[in-house]
Amino acid sequence: MTERLPQAFVTGCVQALGRDAVIEDPVAIRTYTIDFWRQVEGRSPLVLRPASTEGVAAAVRLAAAHGVPIVPQAGNTGLLAGAVPDRSGRQVVLSLARLDRIRAIDGPGECLVAEAGVTLADVQAAAAGADRLFPLSLGSEGTCQIGGNLSTNAGGINVLRYGMARELVLGLEVVLADGRVWNGLRTLRKDNTGYDLKQLFIGAEGSLGIITAAALRLFSRPRESQTLFLGVDSPETAVALLARAKDRFAELVTSFELLHGGCIEAAIAHLPGMRRVLETRVPWYLLVEIAWSLPEGLGAQVDAFLEEIFEAGQVLDGTRAESEAQRALLWRMRESMSEAMKEEGPIARNDVSVPIARIPELIARGLAIVAGLEPGARLMPFGHVGDGNLHFNIVLPRNVSDFPRVRDRLQHAILDAVQDLGGSISAEHGIGRLKREQLRTRKPALDIELMAKLKQVLDPSGILNPGVIV
Ligand code: FAD
Repeated sequence: MTERLPQAFVTGCVQALGRDAVIEDPVAIRTYTIDFWRQVEGRSPLVLRPASTEGVAAAVRLAAAHGVPIVPQAGNTGLLAGAVPDRSGRQVVLSLARLDRIRAIDGPGECLVAEAGVTLADVQAAAAGADRLFPLSLGSEGTCQIGGNLSTNAGGINVLRYGMARELVLGLEVVLADGRVWNGLRTLRKDNTGYDLKQLFIGAEGSLGIITAAALRLFSRPRESQTLFLGVDSPETAVALLARAKDRFAELVTSFELLHGGCIEAAIAHLPGMRRVLETRVPWYLLVEIAWSLPEGLGAQVDAFLEEIFEAGQVLDGTRAESEAQRALLWRMRESMSEAMKEEGPIARNDVSVPIARIPELIARGLAIVAGLEPGARLMPFGHVGDGNLHFNIVLPRNVSDFPRVRDRLQHAILDAVQDLGGSISAEHGIGRLKREQLRTRKPALDIELMAKLKQVLDPSGILNPGVIV
């Protein structure tokens, strides 16, 4: 398919990057052109795998000179098809996977510099090796890469305490659309010298520049963690318990996850080694993590809290993880939830957020929407209720006819409700290719105009991930 590309571009890439960094074999290319859910398949004539920042810069300079569109790809675990090319057969995939070095680590200074292709799990391990914590944590952490995490401004299970990916960055190194390298790789905590340029590239999904390395914030490691698994009657009680836990433990509440009862049943049915943790079946479950950096004493505080909430009638059943194995089981269940739910039937997925107090209202409206539009479907939300973010998934009957039409109708109605409640149509997964139309029609016109102007300034020829975001 390289006939779709200027020959001078292909030759230039081979010269600059080396033969083994340029993939032309269609079979090998195919693994880069299909999205994580295997629902979106694009086409690409070439995959580039540079091993250094200079290599990325050389590839982008050649792309700019020949007008070749580039799609940066990290772990390809993004859920909105932002890392795969479109169907034109003109877009070249640029994989960052070979930029996989930890360049520096400073435990006492609490920072680390990693290249874009280091997996999130390896960043976490490097931090742990220096007795520090890198708190970003997602179900895909073994595969996703830090460059992808920053480009999607990933969230995950620890946002409540540590913030989204953007809050964990001190500096970036970025290859710009003309191939120049912007060196913003600083580890300063304080730097008020004009616009905070690094933030432009975080969450930009590869549309404004290509991140090649990042200076990341590290934190003290919690020495004692307590994990609670609670059964509650309603989302209202879940939100009330969040407030009560925050009153009592403040910033020590690291995660506060809500799971619909159907999600737990799906996990027990479909995940190997999973078992029922609470005897009582209840409509909703909470998975809560509270952690501090002192060596002991938190357990007694958490027990007192548990006693209080049982006495107040706020929990129907509940337990504190008694061992690391039990804690790991609970988190594996949570982090494999998408996998488990996939087995239940075709899913209309939404990743939305609303102000925390309005979560019960969103769920009530969601139930009414499903009952009205698709009575055979089941709303099974789960997610980071502590951040107001739910993966608002609707499982459709296996034999649903015309799935795309049904999914779109449901998604449309859910997003209308989210907007009514002052929420966001994409809480942590970004826009990619799949939500671009939603962004265009649902964001205020001035927001879109400013985004388009930024794109024009930073990528005037439109070669960086065209078709993503704006
Ligand atoms: P990719 O999918 O490869 O790329 C994502 C986007 O960034 C694309 O637009 C791509 O072009 C661009 N990009 C990639 N690398 C660069 C770079 N170096 N420079 C510029 N642009 C680049 N997300 C959450 O936020 N929270 C979760 O809890 C969560 N849980 C998940 C659980 C599972 C099981 C799965 C499969 C996904 C989950 N995700 C979650 C979504 C996904 O893992 C994240 O969006 C992740 O940050 C994507 O990283 P990646 O390396 O796979 O990026």
